[in-house]
Amino acid sequence: MGSRFKKWFGVHEQPPPPSADELVKVRQAIGHAEMPVNVEQAAYQELERLELTNPDTAEYTIGLNYLDYLIKLPWSVRSEDNLDLKHAEQILNQNHFGLKGVKDRILEFLAVRILKARRKPHVLVADDEEITRENLRHILEKDDLDVVTAADGQEALEQLAHNDFDIILTDMKMGAVDGERVLEAAKHKNPDTQVIVISGYATVDSAVDMMRKGAFHYLSKPFTIDQVRQTIRQVMSSKLSGAALRGPILCFAGPPGTGKTSLAQAIAQALHRKFVRVSLAGVKDEAEMRGHRRTYAGAMPGRIIQEILRCGVNNPVFLLDEIDKAVQGFKGDPTAALLEILDPEQNRTFTDHYLELPFDLSGILFVTTANLVDTLPPALLDRMEILPFASYTDIEKADIARNYIIPKQIKENGLEDCPPTFNRESVLKIIREHTREAGLRGLERQISKVCRKVARDVLSSGSSENGFEITPDHVTHYLGPRRYFSETAETEDRIGVTTGMFWTENGGAIAFIEATIMSGRSNLILTGSLGEVMQESAQAALSYLRANAAMFDLEEGFFNEHDIHIHVPAAAVPKDGPSAGLTIAMALLSRLSNRPAKRNVALTGELTLSGRILPVAGIREKILAAARAGLDTIIVPTLNRVHLEELPPEALSDLNVCCVSSVDEAAAITLGEGGEKVD
Ligand code: ADP
Repeated sequence: MGSRFKKWFGVHEQPPPPSADELVKVRQAIGHAEMPVNVEQAAYQELERLELTNPDTAEYTIGLNYLDYLIKLPWSVRSEDNLDLKHAEQILNQNHFGLKGVKDRILEFLAVRILKARRKPHVLVADDEEITRENLRHILEKDDLDVVTAADGQEALEQLAHNDFDIILTDMKMGAVDGERVLEAAKHKNPDTQVIVISGYATVDSAVDMMRKGAFHYLSKPFTIDQVRQTIRQVMSSKLSGAALRGPILCFAGPPGTGKTSLAQAIAQALHRKFVRVSLAGVKDEAEMRGHRRTYAGAMPGRIIQEILRCGVNNPVFLLDEIDKAVQGFKGDPTAALLEILDPEQNRTFTDHYLELPFDLSGILFVTTANLVDTLPPALLDRMEILPFASYTDIEKADIARNYIIPKQIKENGLEDCPPTFNRESVLKIIREHTREAGLRGLERQISKVCRKVARDVLSSGSSENGFEITPDHVTHYLGPRRYFSETAETEDRIGVTTGMFWTENGGAIAFIEATIMSGRSNLILTGSLGEVMQESAQAALSYLRANAAMFDLEEGFFNEHDIHIHVPAAAVPKDGPSAGLTIAMALLSRLSNRPAKRNVALTGELTLSGRILPVAGIREKILAAARAGLDTIIVPTLNRVHLEELPPEALSDLNVCCVSSVDEAAAITLGEGGEKVD
């Protein structure tokens, strides 16, 4: 047989020595990888297959790569948590201004977990041999565990029915009710309970079988005190990082740049955990998360396993960023895939398609982020606790810039030895004239740009003058002419055009609503790709005005001879939801009564057929967006008055916020008292 032929067909008389060497090393590495028993068994099986495979074949390389993943994955490597609440609070405050509600919730979240982790563990020892039972009780009580014993399986089940246990040590064979039944009952009652199987004649096979069914480990008789202690220690450390520190998945929801990612990073820093981030916005299908089967050429594990491999521990803080985007753009069923990752019941046995072996994700502290949560499927929302992040006011932005962003940018741009100072006016100028955003990303970019230019000036002038003060003139010099203008400055009051406030994934936004009339036969034309609910709002607004024509001085017959057209031009604003009802009614009334609508007025509110004005969501975001756009008179439903407290008083000081409960009241403000009629 020619050597080429042998190569092609994977036939060889004797395995070439280099690969034998290689496989010996692999065998040693498997032995040291601290894999769970079932994984270790699969790894040895794969190794045995490779020992019979020609090293020159693709199959051999694929197998070797696979083993490499199994060896390198941190099956039992975890970082020790820092369970010091004071330290956590310090870290959160050190990195982030404000966000009191969110920080409080995170600290409560950590406090619960710290208490759980510190609780004296409850242990059940079930064995029909009195000596074993009592010996175990003695060892465990000495180590400060709370121990209860059961003389057989039936008694163990009774104990389980009345008590919750953290750890159960159970004999495999105990008369009518054996260890397997105890394991099943324990896992059924509380999947967090860890079961250690005691076996008099344990073969690896039966132990592996019990571990497949959910046992944590096994002890074979006779065992030493050290073996018992070591196994209990392993359970405890897995519980500290896993079950005890688990809880609802936190979902940070809010506009971009409001501190969601950086706060998740701060949680990791506070707990001394590694931090991992995967953005779901770019993830197209399930295989990206869960990997491809090994039969595909170039197959690899999915993003979850790859990130765990990269960070080297099995208990990082794992940020699943932009979870709402995955739901929009995902091929297949993203909810099922995400639930499997996030659900503590399912994620202990998360099986990547490439690995084909379960990897326990339950030690991971998952945090998710979303811009808007309305689009998330209920099953997913159910598993998460939403923590809202709101837009910042200009004053808050200026404080964050001075205390956090500027010092950070000075450091990043090498200006620590000659740090410039930014006076308040220049910071406000950057915020108002060079950014228009709910969060801080643009502001950070502009400040970084100023710092870069200062750095260049420092070098070219050769001076390292201390405390160089950046004034508003410097801002214009470094950043150029202002980029954003008030959206109302250039416009006039117009008939049939009103300004609505909307809630978008980037925070609040404003958009104009236009109404016009023409001869026709009572048709209502709606354009601007309005959603169903918004179309209904428009119909309701029109019906309300028709039904109350006399009250608004409108001619009754007028509607029969005219068509009405409503258009919402802005492309970036969501065209659905009921909150534009009042704004549409004002545009119509302005048009029908020929009275110009004031350009400095922004509205929000749902209008019912009977003319009631119902409250709407996102008041803070909407008002801040209107203020950013330069509108100074804000109309909100009276029933939203309580939400004005979400805004600091200084954010409202330059605004005229009017709470209205009828169309009449809104008309008096939008169209002017009595409204001057233009013929
Ligand atoms: P998001 O994830 O919400 O888009 P980031 O966490 O990326 O926002 O925040 C953008 C930038 O703004 C980061 O540099 C962050 O440190 C800063 N930042 C945001 N909120 C705050 C805050 N409350 N205090 C200090 N810095 C903040």
